[in-house]
Amino acid sequence: MTRRTQLFTRALLLRCPHCGGRGLFRHWLAMKESCPVCGLSLATGNRVGAYIFNIAGAEIVMTIVIVAIVVRTWPAPPWNVLQYLAPTMMLLVPLVFYPFSKLLWVAMDLAMHPNAEPDARVHGAVRRET
Ligand SMILES: [Zn+2]
Repeated sequence: MTRRTQLFTRALLLRCPHCGGRGLFRHWLAMKESCPVCGLSLATGNRVGAYIFNIAGAEIVMTIVIVAIVVRTWPAPPWNVLQYLAPTMMLLVPLVFYPFSKLLWVAMDLAMHPNAEPDARVHGAVRRET
């Protein structure tokens, strides 16, 4: 398994992409500031990217489901059901996908910057504040 595959696999399992540690979330919608095992900062610099991942993921899932329903039921798709299903999915899928999008973005960050030291990020953030 390559390092990049390992990063994204760990993220999809809701583990720290860097070390594979668990316990990254206080609850489904609240991620801790850093990994309790390796100290990788999880809070800074990844919010916008994670939101983009989340919205894109929700739209892709919704599009696939809607198109599949329309294709399978053609020529009489259940438009009445679809008009309520689409907005409901746009509300619920981002909530389900939220922790995955956060960790996938952390994995993407680590994949793009493979030589960055996780501890340096945490300590660097502390040093800048003092
Ligand atoms: Zn970790």
